[in-house]
Amino acid sequence: MKVLKFGGSSLADSKRYLTVKDISLASHQEGGAAVVLSAPKGVTNALSLLCEQASAGKDFGELYAKLGMTLNGIADDLAATLPAFRRARLASFIDTVLIELKQHLEGIKLLQCAPEQIVAKILSLGEYVSVNLFSEILASLGQKNHIIDPVSYIVAEGDYLDSIADVAVSKARFADFIYDKQETLIMPGFVAANAEGEKVTLGRNGSDYSAAILAACLDADCCEIWTDVDGVYNADPNQVEGAVLLDKLTYQEAMELSYFGAKVLHPKTIGPIAQHHIPCLIRNTLNPSAPGTLIGKESSEIWTSVKGISHLDDMTMFNVAGPGMKGMVGMASRVFEVMSNANISISLITQSSSEYSISFCIHSKDADKAQNLLEDAFALELANNLLDPIEVRHELAIVTLVGDGMRHSKGLAAKFFTSLAQARVNNVAIAQGSSERSISTVIERHRAKEAVKVVHQNFFSNSHSIDVFLVGCGNVGKELLQQMARQQPLLADRGISLKVFGIANSKKLLLNPQGIDLQNGWAESLAGADSTFSLDRLQEFVQQNSLVNPVIVDCTSNEHIASQYVDLMSAGFHVVTPNKKANTCDIAYYKKLRATAQQTNRQFLYETTVGAGLPVIDNLQKLIFAGDELKRFEGILSGSLSYVFGKLDEGLSLSEATAVAKESGFTEPDPRDDLSGMDVARKLLIMAREADLELELSDIEIESVLPSSFDDSGTIEDFLTNLPKIDDHYRQLIDKARAENKVLRYVGTIEKGHCRVALKAVASDHPLYSIKDGENALAIHSHYYQPIPYVIRGYGAGATVTAAGVFADVLRTMPWKQDI
Ligand code: ADP
Ligand code: ASP
Ligand code: MG
Repeated sequence: MKVLKFGGSSLADSKRYLTVKDISLASHQEGGAAVVLSAPKGVTNALSLLCEQASAGKDFGELYAKLGMTLNGIADDLAATLPAFRRARLASFIDTVLIELKQHLEGIKLLQCAPEQIVAKILSLGEYVSVNLFSEILASLGQKNHIIDPVSYIVAEGDYLDSIADVAVSKARFADFIYDKQETLIMPGFVAANAEGEKVTLGRNGSDYSAAILAACLDADCCEIWTDVDGVYNADPNQVEGAVLLDKLTYQEAMELSYFGAKVLHPKTIGPIAQHHIPCLIRNTLNPSAPGTLIGKESSEIWTSVKGISHLDDMTMFNVAGPGMKGMVGMASRVFEVMSNANISISLITQSSSEYSISFCIHSKDADKAQNLLEDAFALELANNLLDPIEVRHELAIVTLVGDGMRHSKGLAAKFFTSLAQARVNNVAIAQGSSERSISTVIERHRAKEAVKVVHQNFFSNSHSIDVFLVGCGNVGKELLQQMARQQPLLADRGISLKVFGIANSKKLLLNPQGIDLQNGWAESLAGADSTFSLDRLQEFVQQNSLVNPVIVDCTSNEHIASQYVDLMSAGFHVVTPNKKANTCDIAYYKKLRATAQQTNRQFLYETTVGAGLPVIDNLQKLIFAGDELKRFEGILSGSLSYVFGKLDEGLSLSEATAVAKESGFTEPDPRDDLSGMDVARKLLIMAREADLELELSDIEIESVLPSSFDDSGTIEDFLTNLPKIDDHYRQLIDKARAENKVLRYVGTIEKGHCRVALKAVASDHPLYSIKDGENALAIHSHYYQPIPYVIRGYGAGATVTAAGVFADVLRTMPWKQDI
């Protein structure tokens, strides 16, 4: 025979009860079934809340009435579906229960306190209604059935509200249990009796345990736990996208996973079934054809190493420490005796090898009691400074990685902690069981979701997420979004989930927790958005949505945004940008950016600030890291000026060349930004600083394309109208160069620690002679690269190549699979 347990999630309404009936009867016909039932969904929570309301002296009438309606509602619906359903009989049972409940609650309200033995009686009422409902369903269909009252059979000890069964004694009680094999057995879960015969409960979520006890008592062939998911997954499928269903788990693995928070199974369940070698299947009431997860002696052949990750929420950690701890025999046992005497269960323990401290975690609900008891127990040591004041840390969670195969695999702990570091989750304490079946870390509670998510991604789904927030939707920003939209499916195929969660311009911020649709309507949605860009808002969003790899992409040229990079990285964002402002600010901020990136384990990537998509910064950094030294640098760093000077070669005047460049979109909206030389100076400064030169923007010698005598004031139109005034000046310069077989180029140079941006006439054998049409060229003369320099050339401007470069940087924020 089998024991089948159906949890509250399988008993939400009359329809579910009928599904449970179908599954149970099919099983009964196969070889006999004993059915253990929880209360209908939400009923135990309601009963618990009623106790709280009454003991606080509050009016509980509304909730009480709602509960009555829920229970009678299910009965009414069943009566409407099943013609032979004895509604009146059930109505009188529910009435009796409700009257008993009301009497208890009124007593509690009067006393303003709820004795545990009364609470146990109250909490178990839901299970009794549930079995009576079910019994009536079976009876209405002519199916014989028998309700087992656990109070007469299951003996347990401990707290009234969290007892542990004595399976041997309980089994003995079943020895003379006789029943007709035609009958389906039904038993309320969650309930037992203590040695005095008083009703106790087995702890919240304890019906699974009841099923295991009954399976052991009846020598069942199998214990089936029917719930609302297909089985045990490697993480809570309702919290972790892509959680994978496990085919098999050993008893120990299941114990460890459930102990550390996988509530699909109550941790106490494993004891009786493992001891009596009863296989246990976790199955889905809503999908009965799914095979489920088998818990038994055998381990999965598919998942051989790490099986799952779970977390325990709402933990408090105590640290007992002090000079008196060293060598003091029995300290640990005294600490734990205090906890055990108070029936406080400890979830995790760590002790420093120096013996100066013992840390342990308990559920936060017990924290105040534990603190008082510890302070009483060690009052003498505390008074004599042998112990430091007991440290208590609230709002923690324990995240645990579980798997039998972990014993034989190396590097798992490293991968675990690297994953946590990737999400910038701080480890408060860590513990590994000597069985090496689990590794646990204690972390701040509000980071638990991110921690589980990132560990799951790295261990199981082999996928990584990049969570983008774009600021600035000009040419480059828009192009980037288009490129990302095109690439999203391809990246997804490779296990990279790239989503843009936020888009901001100077006025609005659009956020979407599902990720913004980049193909349709984002611009309209942004125009209609009601928030504006702020670090606080972004941080709140990242936290609410448990994003683990947030990246800010700053496609503005805005100084104000650039000044926030340090704060953004401190808040957990990687920063990717083609904006040159941050890297050309004062050197103190420049250094702070790098220090922050290092401290916060975040990336600051700005490859496109020099040479757009050309790999300039990356290559320069690699050379310098490899011990190379910049001797001299010479380059055309501006796509706009490369274009303008190329046109001068072709015979156009400066004003004509500028107009064509502007029309073709090669210049900044205001061409003075290019012609002033400032843009090139910034790029040169970025290069120089990469080569360890501690320079400021004011140290760069800039010879503007515009002669100092030229009045460049006024509007863009004024400026363009005035520009022909210097055409002659340029004509002369070009003629002079041409006479020497040279062309004019606007060149940035770094030499002997000095940076200069200036016009230069170069001969045909010079590497920059042929650089025009928007091309950039950079010649790096270094210790390793001489006499022939290291040359990088290609398009160094334009939205397409710049966006592609930014995109490449965005992808670099993802820790590659082999790195972890
Ligand atoms: P029941 O009412 O049937 O006892 P529970 O709500 O107690 O159901 O347990 C089922 C829930 O356990 C699932 O809905 C799921 O959210 C949660 N859960 C947590 N961890 C896991 C896991 N590793 N695998 C499957 N479910 C899990
Ligand atoms: N009804 C009880 C609870 O909600 C027991 C159970 O469902 O497992 O805790
Ligand atoms: Mg449950």
